[in-house]
Amino acid sequence: MGHAPTVASMIWCNSVVSYNYCKFQWLLLCCFLFLAHGENIKRSDFPDEFLFGVGTSAYQIEGAYLEDGKSLNNWDVFSLSPGTIRNGDNGFIADDHYHQYLKDIELIQSLGVDTYRFSISWSRILPRGRFGDVNPDGIMFYNKILDELVSRGIKPFVTIYHFDFPQELQDRYGSWLSPLMQEDYVHYADTCFKNFGDRVKYWTTMNEPNLFTQMAYQNGRYPPARCSQPFGDCPAGNSDTEPIVVMHNMLLAHGKAVNLYRRDYQHEQGGSVGIVLDCLMYEPLTDNELDQEAARRGLAFSIGWALDPLTFGDYPSEMRQYIGNQLPQFTSAERKFMRNSIDFIGVNHYSTTYAKDCLYSDCSISANRATKGFLDTTSERDGVQIGELTGISSLRVVPRGIGEVVEYLKERYDNKPMFITENGYSEPQTEGQDQDAIQDFKRIEFHQMYLSSLAQAIRDGANVKGYFVWTLMDDFEWIIGYRIKFGLYYIDRQTLARVPKMSAKWYQDFLKNNTQTPVIRLSSELVHNKADS
Ligand code: BGC
Repeated sequence: MGHAPTVASMIWCNSVVSYNYCKFQWLLLCCFLFLAHGENIKRSDFPDEFLFGVGTSAYQIEGAYLEDGKSLNNWDVFSLSPGTIRNGDNGFIADDHYHQYLKDIELIQSLGVDTYRFSISWSRILPRGRFGDVNPDGIMFYNKILDELVSRGIKPFVTIYHFDFPQELQDRYGSWLSPLMQEDYVHYADTCFKNFGDRVKYWTTMNEPNLFTQMAYQNGRYPPARCSQPFGDCPAGNSDTEPIVVMHNMLLAHGKAVNLYRRDYQHEQGGSVGIVLDCLMYEPLTDNELDQEAARRGLAFSIGWALDPLTFGDYPSEMRQYIGNQLPQFTSAERKFMRNSIDFIGVNHYSTTYAKDCLYSDCSISANRATKGFLDTTSERDGVQIGELTGISSLRVVPRGIGEVVEYLKERYDNKPMFITENGYSEPQTEGQDQDAIQDFKRIEFHQMYLSSLAQAIRDGANVKGYFVWTLMDDFEWIIGYRIKFGLYYIDRQTLARVPKMSAKWYQDFLKNNTQTPVIRLSSELVHNKADS
């Protein structure tokens, strides 16, 4: 590292002359920091059959919100109501993936990934749920995607439901608050298995039911925006009880769909089915036994809430203890089909939080609730943050967390196969962000550090089978709109052009098992391009 720039030269750089030279210095410094960091993670640090991929979801990228027979879905309607989404953004055009899917699949292939995770838009293939016909244009769209992926040797990893559903199901009977939604979901899943299952070997029934219930029925920030005090100020809802009812319906919908798949399709199609959960890691705020217990409750009330029923046939005993009769019961027939209804666990992991006990200590009234497990969360201990800030203030950079959460799942669920279905970084908001967004060293560093921690967990015996970067390209980030960016590709919002970030090149190189050269090579490439322009 004889060419490593000094801090003094960087200060000089800030105050002086040549833009290109300064950029070059900064790039070299970053390069130096990477190598000095010792995060020299390589693809070959993972098992041979390990799958690397990249992920997206339908509503976040497709656009074409009313084309070729698609109906309005819950997010279309929600974003039409003022004040719901930052900057008044919406997913009507999104990344225009509906029209540019071929180009996007080329980008995916150029990364050199083994697999691509995407979701199907419910309202595109069943615009009226089970109250209307299958939309042939919707089916054709996903058939084209699947055919393209398979012909290029990329394994499709398909999420059936990722937060978006036909608005008609909300208007008719209140969607997930009603058991009727189970029937709609099973009909939808059946339609997917029937039409796409010959090419899909990895299905996940739903994305993050645990986060969805919280955002839609506790904080009321996602549609249908239901909540009550002290969690929020919604026109209707009950933040203590509705999330529990909604999760129950979602879990039963999952169980029924998996049963159907196993009975009617799995033998012939040979796929496997999992579910994807938001797997925030909880660490105790202090060494105190009460906080340690609170951290364990945090995991049980978020992850165990969904995975215990799908593995053991019932909710975690901790939840029964604190929520009591308000936690629904499964009938014995339900227990039977719920138990062992996942072939693998989809782990969405971004961050770690500290947990603080509220049973015996003072807490805010929204933390001190049975439905939350009587615990509070914070990212700060003794004035020190748990990790570096990202674009979403609750998601701090805590690389050890991915190893810890995988270890927790390994122990609690008998080392069932796991896929890291999402892991990604959004940069904090700053001025002049767009230029920096392309030179996204922090994102590269984030993935390197999280992958190192994951590789160690695998060496320690965790049965992790794959890892997906979230996300292929900057997208519609739900209520945050387009300002927060997680992509390997930058999207110019005027032209919708896809521009590779440094992280795209890093992932490409990482997947070729090439760790040393990319940053240096890219530095000069970038400087060169800049000089040309
Ligand atoms: C969701 C994604 C989202 C990501 C980053 C996850 O909870 O599954 O759809 O883009 O977080 O905010």
